[in-house]
Amino acid sequence: MPEGPEIRRAADRLNQAVQGRPLEHVYLPFPALRRYGTRLKRATIQAFTPHGKALLTHFDNGLTLYSHNQLYGLWENTRIGAPYLKGRQLRLELGTAGQVVRLYSATDVKFWKTDSLKHHPFLVKLGPDILDPDLSTTRISERCLEPRFRNQTLGALLLNQTFLAGLGNYLRTEILFVAELNPEWRPLQLSVDQRFNLADAALTLSRQSYDTGGITLNIGQAERLKRSGATFEDHRFWIFDRSGLPCYRCATPIAVRAVGGRRLYYCASCQPKPQI
Ligand SMILES: [Zn+2]
Repeated sequence: MPEGPEIRRAADRLNQAVQGRPLEHVYLPFPALRRYGTRLKRATIQAFTPHGKALLTHFDNGLTLYSHNQLYGLWENTRIGAPYLKGRQLRLELGTAGQVVRLYSATDVKFWKTDSLKHHPFLVKLGPDILDPDLSTTRISERCLEPRFRNQTLGALLLNQTFLAGLGNYLRTEILFVAELNPEWRPLQLSVDQRFNLADAALTLSRQSYDTGGITLNIGQAERLKRSGATFEDHRFWIFDRSGLPCYRCATPIAVRAVGGRRLYYCASCQPKPQI
């Protein structure tokens, strides 16, 4: 599932394609959206804005489209008339002069009055967006000590969108590795320095991933691997998806376990278990 950095890059692409220009083409094959067709004719898309893993499409007519891609949803921007992607169901297609954006296969997609979005059941629960430029390490360090978060294991907390919005499976693994924290630690057990390391890794890796198109590994190391012929997937991560391969820092084989159906990777040597 795309995480915050991927959603934000998708929003950037979509904005570049159609933002601020009147719609000349509206096609809404998804039954739940169809009745909005007339209201969108000649409307203008003001902006696509990411909220955690959800994407909001704001129109200048008081409507906003909420979409959450879950596992299969996908936004595409292309030229008008380009062939549709195979094996996916088209939900909507919005075009301006020459450019078109399409949403495929998302199930969680609905129009809202922009004014009532503050009551959206998913959005109201979201924590601060991990890519919000105003989010600070101090705020994250303090937030993890709030009573509702401080007893959660870090492995669970980093996927909790109420804590921070936009983190997902690969960022969780990479943040805990870089902060040298075992997924079983809980915020209450951490020293001030460890909480800072957690907050700093969360911000730094998410921003780097956004800037680089998904690389969380140290950039110098990623470049060296790339020069030696590694594929993109093989020079992205410190430990995610590297089960059994040697840790770049200590050569211990990377371990993996499934928690709630999600893969969690760790280095048993760099991320020792908490002493209880
Ligand atoms: Zn290690």
